[in-house]
Amino acid sequence: MIAETASIFKKGDMILKPHSDLSVKNKKINLIGLSRSELEAVVLSLGLKKFRAKQIWHWIYHRGARDFDEMTSLGKQTRAELQVKCELIRPKVVREQLSKDATRKWLLNPPGGGEIETVFIPEEDRGALCISSQVGCALSCKFCHTGTQPLIRNLVPADIVGQMLIARDTYREWPSSQGRKLLSNIVMMGMGEPLLNFENIKKALHIIMDPEGIAVSKRRITLSTAGYVPLMKRCGDEIGVNLAVSLHAVRDDIRDEIVPLNRKFPIKELLNACRSYPGAHNARRITFEYVMLKDVNDSEADAKELCRLISGIPAKVNLIPFNSWPGAPFECSSEKSIQKFANVVNNAGYSSPVRRPRGRDILAACGQLKSDTIRKKLR
Ligand code: SAH
Repeated sequence: MIAETASIFKKGDMILKPHSDLSVKNKKINLIGLSRSELEAVVLSLGLKKFRAKQIWHWIYHRGARDFDEMTSLGKQTRAELQVKCELIRPKVVREQLSKDATRKWLLNPPGGGEIETVFIPEEDRGALCISSQVGCALSCKFCHTGTQPLIRNLVPADIVGQMLIARDTYREWPSSQGRKLLSNIVMMGMGEPLLNFENIKKALHIIMDPEGIAVSKRRITLSTAGYVPLMKRCGDEIGVNLAVSLHAVRDDIRDEIVPLNRKFPIKELLNACRSYPGAHNARRITFEYVMLKDVNDSEADAKELCRLISGIPAKVNLIPFNSWPGAPFECSSEKSIQKFANVVNNAGYSSPVRRPRGRDILAACGQLKSDTIRKKLR
């Protein structure tokens, strides 16, 4: 873990080690989630030629193979040997729910243990997979259901890539070279704060972006952060994906309350980091997410201040009607005030779509995700 993140954690956060980190004698190696060079190292250690790694990579990430037996370019003996020493572990699907608007939510038990949720939001001819980055979350944003759950652990690359594999399996979108896909985009907007699990997210996204595998382009991936300023530049430089920032308030006193991370990295610092985000330009704008909370942050004066704050940043503003959850201490702004807010932002020259809530009936909308076992316990 990156040392500077330590001060973010709250009482009750556990930070367990993923199962895969525990050294168990004679344990098979899960090939899913290894970088290309790690996969090569494993292949060499088994006495196989280096080019076998490229073939295996192709089978796992291009063809979606779930078993070594499917890897017919490998020769029977090689496959048998792989079977003994290695494995291909995907997350287990604990439950799958389909909303009446076709949003799909999986409750998964990832290889590293615990429970996470992954959501697919289909549009007519494309769709976004919303991937989780941690089991639970350390940030405690007041309007977010996941934030009421302690952080249990960081997801490892096998857990993160595994969410994509499950979705591709479900929609039968293998091989990767198949033309237009429903699973076209990825948003790192599920449970957890991706920049507080930077190395694992980086490694996983590089696997997902690899052109000889899953091959989702960085232009189709958006990482959302609550504003962990110290790693924003590295996110742009080393991962290169689109950035979304959960701004949600235009004054520090309010943002301190609803996004407590603001006490460490206040609005001014956050916006400076946005101004210098590598690769931000007009064709590649930063998305500011803004949850609409009745009488908290939704006045026209707030909208004007928002425009003043972000002026000069190539940006768009995504207004998110607050999605309620049991015991939530807020109400959603009225449609009228959301529209007024949007008009002010729009008139200032920023695109300001209102995010249509999806999957509310199965608690799959923004900020409604939470591990099911914990939900039940609280009940
Ligand atoms: N930790 C990251 C990733 C979560 S993304 C982040 O904070 O950006 C999920 C988005 O939904 C964030 O903008 C989050 O603030 C927002 N959100 C959380 N709870 C919500 C709720 N109940 N209603 C609407 N949006 C919510």
